[in-house]
Amino acid sequence: MKKYHLKLQHLIIGVAILAFLLTIASSLWSSYRMNNQTLMDNTLETNRVYAEKLATTANNYLTETLQTLVYNSNTIAKYIDNEERLNAEADRLRMQTNTFNSISIVDTKGKVLATSPQTLEIKGKVLTSKAIKDAIREKRPMISDPYRAITNRELIYISAPIFNKNGKYLGLVGGTIYLEEANILYELLGKHFYDDGSYVYVVDRNGRIIYHEDRSRINDVVTENPIVQKIMNHDKSGVQRVTNSKGQDMLAGFSTVDTAGWGVVSQRPTEISLQPAENMVKETLYVALPLLIITLAIIIWAAIRISRPLQRLAELTESSMKKNEEKNLSAVSAWYYEVIQLKNALIHSLSFLHQQVNFFMDQSTTDPLTGLTNRRTLTAKMDELINAKTPFSIILMDIDHFKLVNDTYGHGVGDEVLQYLAYKMKTVTRATDLCCRYGGEEFIVLLPNTTAQEAFEVAEILRKNLENTSSPTGKEITISSGVAEYPETEYTAVKLIEQADQCLYQAKEQGRNRVIMANSLNPTR
Ligand code: GH3
Ligand code: MG
Ligand code: MG
Repeated sequence: MKKYHLKLQHLIIGVAILAFLLTIASSLWSSYRMNNQTLMDNTLETNRVYAEKLATTANNYLTETLQTLVYNSNTIAKYIDNEERLNAEADRLRMQTNTFNSISIVDTKGKVLATSPQTLEIKGKVLTSKAIKDAIREKRPMISDPYRAITNRELIYISAPIFNKNGKYLGLVGGTIYLEEANILYELLGKHFYDDGSYVYVVDRNGRIIYHEDRSRINDVVTENPIVQKIMNHDKSGVQRVTNSKGQDMLAGFSTVDTAGWGVVSQRPTEISLQPAENMVKETLYVALPLLIITLAIIIWAAIRISRPLQRLAELTESSMKKNEEKNLSAVSAWYYEVIQLKNALIHSLSFLHQQVNFFMDQSTTDPLTGLTNRRTLTAKMDELINAKTPFSIILMDIDHFKLVNDTYGHGVGDEVLQYLAYKMKTVTRATDLCCRYGGEEFIVLLPNTTAQEAFEVAEILRKNLENTSSPTGKEITISSGVAEYPETEYTAVKLIEQADQCLYQAKEQGRNRVIMANSLNPTR
């Protein structure tokens, strides 16, 4: 299995896309965060302002109501002993103000003198609730905390003391707000309906809910709510992110109703408030999509442009192990520094490598002294011809009395004689013939498509030439030669050389400076 290697192109594209996506993600994220913060701040502030507006409205209303009670208490003082008139006054007050669910007038002991509506059936009873007792004791206009009355209703009692002309305390006139039934608070606070989960609620100074859209929540004590804690702490107004009783994340603003010590809370679900920020991200992506696609395409195009020359160089380096890729290397378009350097270095080192290879190939096939091919190349060439059944002849030659040359003129002249003979061999043979130094002062000429007779003639030409020419010694040298032919006299390279050697031996035996041909000596067919 071929090992998988990551390609530069994929790496560049991968890194570029990663950087691109991270940039988009981080810019979207930061603008989302900023938007989120702004939306959150705005929502909190809007809720605070709204709560403040409602609180002011409620405050004004309660102040007016207290004033109305105070004003009417003067009239009531005049008729404190007239039951009928008291009932009439109570009715009038209830109808006029439209604030109260019921009106009652009680004496200094808490005994009910008159009510409206008269169906209450508490007339003549003594009211003992803390709210009534506090009001009688304090003798001033008061708004009570919520409590459960003897009518078994959860209510708030708003009252004013009754004094006669002489300032004598006669009792009190008070109105109730039934918290669990339709009441004035619903008119004051509940006019606005939202379909986005926003709502308003009111708590008293003890953290008890006295107004809530969901009436089942009325009377719940919610002191653990941080915004209610702020109200109980007498903060005037403020904002807070809270979790409501249903576990919903809310952005809340609050303001207090001074007259009663109540707190009005307006809140909106965080999720809905922040929805626009999410929409903004989606819209930005949608609008930017064509641009993103174009940018991606440019990134990929650039990555290919950058990596292609390097990739091509890498491929050519691989294939240059097998063949010369110098031409293809030159054709690689190098358009930036690193590739230009790499390409030049590759071309340079490859041509150097090929030169070296050629040099060593030459070295391994050539005899350094004479420049002729060596013995290995010769036998390889013979095998090649034998395999191809191509006929050929060889001439094996040996310099006569060469030892004497060395002894007389020195080894250096001896070498020159060897070079001289090599040169002579080249002059008498064809380009297709192979001249070889077989060893020491023995040489072989391989003559393809040549009969022994023809080779014999070449050997004779060489012999005669040497006989008549001065060698580097200043005198002529002579050689003895043996000739053999494939496939006429022998079938293998080794046997053929042995046979030529035998002929050479014969030539030496017969007095040297002569050529002996194998078939003339030992005809085999
Ligand atoms: P023969 O006629 O019987 O061949 O006599 P010869 O003196 O040539 O005898 P032989 O062939 O045995 O001698 C070969 C000599 O060639 C011995 C060696 O010193 C010499 N020789 C071999 N190689 C070289 C070489 O590379 N350079 C030189 N200068 N001499 C060499
Ligand atoms: Mg010899
Ligand atoms: Mg010799």
